Amino acid sequence: MKIKTRFAPSPTGYLHVGGARTALYSWLFSRHLGGEFVLRIEDTDRERSTQEAIDTIMDGMNWLNLDWDEGPYLQTQRFDRYNSVIDQMLEDGKAYRCCCSRERLEALRAAQMAKGEKPRYDGHCRDSQYNSDQCSVVRFRNPQEGSVAFNDKIRGLIEVSNAELDDLIIRRSDGSPTYNFCVVIDDWDMQITHVVRGEDHINNTPRQINILHALGAPIPEYAHVSMILGDDGKKLSKRHGAVSVMQYRDDGYLPEALLNYLVRLGWSCGDQEIFSLEQMKTLFTFDAISKSASAFNTEKLLWLNHHYINHLPPESVAVYLSWHIKQQGIDTRNGPQLVEIIKLLGERCKTLKEMASSCRYFYEEFDEFDADMAKKHLRPLDRQPLEALRTKLAAISEWNVENIHQALQSTAVALGIGMGQIGMPLRVAVTGSGQSPSIDVTVCAIGQQRTLTRIDGALKFITAREAQ
Ligand code: GLU
Repeated sequence: MKIKTRFAPSPTGYLHVGGARTALYSWLFSRHLGGEFVLRIEDTDRERSTQEAIDTIMDGMNWLNLDWDEGPYLQTQRFDRYNSVIDQMLEDGKAYRCCCSRERLEALRAAQMAKGEKPRYDGHCRDSQYNSDQCSVVRFRNPQEGSVAFNDKIRGLIEVSNAELDDLIIRRSDGSPTYNFCVVIDDWDMQITHVVRGEDHINNTPRQINILHALGAPIPEYAHVSMILGDDGKKLSKRHGAVSVMQYRDDGYLPEALLNYLVRLGWSCGDQEIFSLEQMKTLFTFDAISKSASAFNTEKLLWLNHHYINHLPPESVAVYLSWHIKQQGIDTRNGPQLVEIIKLLGERCKTLKEMASSCRYFYEEFDEFDADMAKKHLRPLDRQPLEALRTKLAAISEWNVENIHQALQSTAVALGIGMGQIGMPLRVAVTGSGQSPSIDVTVCAIGQQRTLTRIDGALKFITAREAQ
């Protein structure tokens, strides 16, 4: 059997991390078994669905590198198909027209509630022979006897008595098919073998299975994935910070880190924490998915991001870094290659956004020194070491880390001072701040001419300070 799964978001907002994890699990399951993956946009709710949401969902999927083999299908483009199945069901007696007025349904509901019963349609129009001119909605003739059971791949056996299920409306009075019905026809037409979706859809599954049975369609397997909670145990929402996948991109995360984080959020494989996409594909199974809700932990995501910044090939990190650098308006034409920046700053940065803002001094002049740092390290007594060092740096004919290190060391020895006493003034002089990787590699990447000019700037600053 050819495995086929799908991700079927409703385009009423951005792709959030819960949806992305469901998409990932569905994608992994099919990729693990060499199957296919379908992207389907469930846009039947025309009032709440937007093109912008469709675009951001696809951006999110693309950014995460979750590719699809078919689609995106749009449900709104398939209304003719849904309606023709409904017409056939009416003809076959598998569905019926219902003319119950709103008032009748409200009264029924109130009476049931008063008796402490679950409100449900009582089948009043089941045996009437209304035609399309008389009646408003079409209902599915749900079996009245027995029960419907399915073996959820995450939750085990789930069984619901048909007495609990009423006759679902499958076509509204305006002629539009309803959500649950469209899902059923799509899963059938698209030959979906495994439905992986959020646990909020568990209640829909028995109804959908009954409709599939009525149509003589094969029943897919189902896997309902649990919710993601915030670190305070409440349902994950905007209150907890970023929930949109693209916000994670904007905040400087690598897709590899977010995917690794999401796969582990509810799935495990021994005590392994780091999974490349290839490893996930090889190892992923439903057996190891947890039934309970998982709590989002930003610290762990940051830890993973730091790991991937330092362990992926710098060339591929550079592609993402360059996006952030553009966002921050840094012109990198005159300065080190981005792979160089990743090697220099990788250890110190947990996000690419942070890396982009920390690398500015490699490319651009700064207007002023950090006030505290300048106060501490650009004092009149730092003039002599800086001047001596400038002479030595200017004399270097081959600008490399070793020669720079030599220059620093011999200046310190000649003046009888510690390396820190020369290193810190130099750091403030060339970066404007007190933070940078090891000073010799930093200076090397900044370049000889730029370093000398910046030392001159620092000496000028000291002169101005002396004059005060
Ligand atoms: N459109 C539904 C949602 O976004 C998913 C339904 C399904 O996967 O069957 O929650």
